[in-house]
Amino acid sequence: MRNFKEYSGCIHAHSIYSDGSGTFPEMIKAAQGAGLDYLLASDHMTLQGRDEGYTGWHDDLFLSVGYEINDKNDQHHYLAFGLDEMLPSDYSHEQYIQAVKAKDALGVAAHPFEQRDVQKSVVEFPPIPWGNLDYPEIEVIEIWNMMSHWLELTTGRNKYWNVVHPRSFSTFPSRRLLAWWDRANLDRKVVGIGSVDVHAIKIRIFKLYTKAIFDYKIMFKSIRTHLLCDSELTKSSDSAQVESTIFNLIRDGRTFISNFRRGDARGFRFWIEDGDRELQMGESGTMQRPILKAIIPERGHCRLIRNGELIQKGKATRIEMAVEPGVYRLEVLKGKRGWIYSNHIKILESN
Ligand SMILES: [Zn+2]
Ligand SMILES: [Zn+2]
Repeated sequence: MRNFKEYSGCIHAHSIYSDGSGTFPEMIKAAQGAGLDYLLASDHMTLQGRDEGYTGWHDDLFLSVGYEINDKNDQHHYLAFGLDEMLPSDYSHEQYIQAVKAKDALGVAAHPFEQRDVQKSVVEFPPIPWGNLDYPEIEVIEIWNMMSHWLELTTGRNKYWNVVHPRSFSTFPSRRLLAWWDRANLDRKVVGIGSVDVHAIKIRIFKLYTKAIFDYKIMFKSIRTHLLCDSELTKSSDSAQVESTIFNLIRDGRTFISNFRRGDARGFRFWIEDGDRELQMGESGTMQRPILKAIIPERGHCRLIRNGELIQKGKATRIEMAVEPGVYRLEVLKGKRGWIYSNHIKILESN
């Protein structure tokens, strides 16, 4: 088994520079308090946090400031990280997904399949789905967006409960989205990440009490994206270099998603080996006698998916099984709720 340096962090956070309630120093403090290794922040249509120099190391936390792009109808939300200047604001979504790729920045399709019953929902937040995701430039999508997921489940009737206990609703990524993701990966690689989409919106409940829903620190202890890095991210290298390492790992799919509320998933590993050759998450290749292996940091209910279909399930902390060509990913549930979601590994038919 190859040795990796693991980094666990959160993606998609809003500050006061768009519709969040916290300043950058507040977000940084919350991220450090939650024990994150990195944070990718993305305000709507502004790079003010980047312009003010917040990208870089803050003690042991690496922060990269990107932004969340939308089109003129406020649709097709797309996270872009690594750009020093904003793209023209009148770009269509086809234009900005191409421009982000051309500039070698990291693009992520945000809340791609958001669905909400607008009648029953918290009406101030209409759903913002993507509709069609079949653009070759879209290489990374949010598989599990905490905020979007919460809004899908929050109705007028349960909103007070959900406001006080936001993380208790972080049950599973959407089945529809997972099915799309598995199907897409039969043809081309599409990487999945988790996101918090934290705003820490303050709302007033029962007249007297103002509560920040999805407080930063609480949200940073929910959906995380873990990166498996060949070498250590060093503080001596400049920010651009650290950013490009992080973005490449995400683009490559050398990453898995966890819900920290169900347990600390650091140490999870999933790979396929053949003698001394290994395929990691995000990789594909041919193999003679492939053995699929996994290490799960705590006993969980594992579900192995091949070509979009569940082929094996059961409680385990280790998996080792001979497999045939196909596209594999592993999910681990805990207490009947989603805990860990790997990216795909593809074994090609050899002929
Ligand atoms: Zn959005
Ligand atoms: Zn957002």
